[in-house]
Amino acid sequence: ADNDKRQFSDLHFPEKISTGLASAGFLRPSPIQWAALPLAKIGVDLIVQSKSGTGKTLVYVVTALNMIDTSVSAVQAVILTPTREIAVQGARISLDIAAASMPDFKAATLIGGMSVVDDATKLKRCHMIVGTPGRVRQLIDEKYFKTEAVRFFALDEADKMLESSFKNDVTWIYNQLPEVKQVMALSATYPESLANSLTSLMRHPQHVRLDTASQVLIGLDQYVLHTTFHP
Ligand code: ADP
Repeated sequence: ADNDKRQFSDLHFPEKISTGLASAGFLRPSPIQWAALPLAKIGVDLIVQSKSGTGKTLVYVVTALNMIDTSVSAVQAVILTPTREIAVQGARISLDIAAASMPDFKAATLIGGMSVVDDATKLKRCHMIVGTPGRVRQLIDEKYFKTEAVRFFALDEADKMLESSFKNDVTWIYNQLPEVKQVMALSATYPESLANSLTSLMRHPQHVRLDTASQVLIGLDQYVLHTTFHP
């Protein structure tokens, strides 16, 4: 029952964050948000593992908004996603939360299929980018995106981001970022291959995962039927 009373304000983020969350309609943290945000806030590298639909997006969004200094006109947070749609969603939620309390905050979506010239313009005045690896790599490579102020790097759907098709670009981008930064990996699954890939990207990561009991979605009933063995 206590879980039902938890509020974002209990996590003691600065006023700009709690106000922004409330005005975007987010009042109570989900279990993974409650578990992961305090650790993320102190700046440690973090593996955030919970089922799809449990609210992992807000974990990286709130962490990024909390560390970004909008008086510095430079990209300070980089979030990579496997698809354009997920990138658009992440940028939109960040802007929704920042709208009321961080009026100067700017986020850009850097995805394939859009104009590189437009991306270059957006990059001149933005604090956070959410993008797909190919386009982000291209913009760094062509010197439109200067990475020296980046202090937060997140991989959404990290299991997919570190599969062979994306891994080269993700690693390349990682190597262009300043050495001192916070790294976060968010994933529904945590296969051995992901664990291995992450060791080269993270320093002493904390692993936050939900126990199975708190992952049951409200409104869903689950049943087990024991049957006798039959070949
Ligand atoms: P995941 O990344 O774990 O798959 P999402 O971050 O996409 O999950 O969240 C799933 C849905 O739940 C979204 O529609 C999101 O807006 C909503 N949501 C997330 N956190 C909260 C919250 N604390 N309160 C209310 N709705 C939330």
